[in-house]
Parts: sequence; structure tokens; C-alpha cells
Amino acid sequence: MLPRRRCPFCRRWFHPHPRLKQRQKTCGRPDCRHKHKQKSNQEWRTENPDYFRGVYALQKEKYGTRFDYRRCYRQQHPRLRAAQRGFRPKMARAAEIVACKFHKP
Ligand SMILES: [Zn+2]
Repeated sequence: MLPRRRCPFCRRWFHPHPRLKQRQKTCGRPDCRHKHKQKSNQEWRTENPDYFRGVYALQKEKYGTRFDYRRCYRQQHPRLRAAQRGFRPKMARAAEIVACKFHKP
């Protein structure tokens, strides 16, 4: 049996799983695992601060905001718009194709 270790979150002693050995960091209780995951995520974010930044700005430049994109799409697809309002698609007016910066028909 592996030597017992102390959980850094709840301070209880535990025996690591034989397959996990020294890689097991917590006692395995859901609260401790959740705290460990939060802590490791936080460490990863401090090591990679730009990972989640910049993507949305690039998408916004290319596609516009999500609102812009949806508005253009709805303008170009009046049958969908009519269907969303509850009308039958054949009742929708003939579509005038609206060119849009963010969504090409
Ligand atoms: Zn614990």
C-alpha cells in the first residue's frame, strides 16, 4: 500500500489510488477535486493570460457582432423570419436579397 498523503484542501489523510500513485493530489471527494480543478485552471490562466483574449475581437472584425450577423441573416432569409413568426413559409414575401457586410448570401 502506498504511503498515505494529506489532502491539501480538506486536510484529511488518504491513501492514493494504486494506479494514480503520486499523481493523485486530493483525497478524491468531489469538493476537493473541484477546488483542485479551479486552482489548476487559475494557474494555467496566469501562465497563458492571452489564450482567451483576442479571438472574439478578430471574429467581430470579420463577422460583426453576433447581433449583426443574425440581423443580416434574417434580412437575407425572410422565409425563416416568417416561419419564426408562425406564418407558413409560402406566405412570406418574395425576398429582396440584401447584401450585408458580415453575411454573404
Ligand atoms: Zn480532500
